[in-house]
Amino acid sequence: MSEKKIDKLKLLKSPTKLNRRDFLKTGLRAAAFLSIASITGYSMSKSMSDDLVWQIDPNKCVQCGRCATTCVLNMSAVKCMHVYKMCGYCDLCGGYFKPQIKNLDTGAENQLCPTKALHRTFVETPYYKYDVDEELCNGCGKCVEGCGAFGNGSLQLQINHDICSNCNQCAIAKVCPSGAISQIPASKGYLVRSSFQTPKI
Ligand code: SF4
Ligand code: SF4
Ligand code: SF4
Repeated sequence: MSEKKIDKLKLLKSPTKLNRRDFLKTGLRAAAFLSIASITGYSMSKSMSDDLVWQIDPNKCVQCGRCATTCVLNMSAVKCMHVYKMCGYCDLCGGYFKPQIKNLDTGAENQLCPTKALHRTFVETPYYKYDVDEELCNGCGKCVEGCGAFGNGSLQLQINHDICSNCNQCAIAKVCPSGAISQIPASKGYLVRSSFQTPKI
């Protein structure tokens, strides 16, 4: 088994036993891979393809909410993607908690995500790792907005190409107020924001 696969298994089996340094050194590589697995997996399988796919530019998205409600699919193909290398692993995560809660109680009433798709795992005081359950995520963008307002902007919206029907004309692109959705060759991979900028309409 490759060293990378062993690191990944260690992380999955005992996330709480890793200290933050180990986590950053070994776990993050694996976690980052896993977080974008459905995305990169698809991209990699199509990496030789010049087929056009719909993509969101996270630098342009203003989290208007239309990604959750306008996709032709019952459950939107737009999902929150976590770019782990940008995350601060904050205890008080602006993407996870509703604003102005009194204590960091992870009760459902304190969570910002309406579908409870964002999960957190203790790493080491005071750090927590945040993962998105894509089956529950509807792409509403609330966590993305919260992370951008109070954190590093590591939560970003993206169209999951494993789910997207690749409509001739993306229904969301037609109504996106910031022109954040466009078609680009699949071989270019996903657009990932690596540093935070305030989107402009
Ligand atoms: S419609 Fe555009 S601005 Fe609105 S959430 Fe989707 S990508 Fe972002
Ligand atoms: S807040 Fe919205 S975009 Fe973020 S994980 Fe929950 S459903 Fe997905
Ligand atoms: S191309 Fe179609 S399936 Fe894909 S995100 Fe747009 S509306 Fe949804």
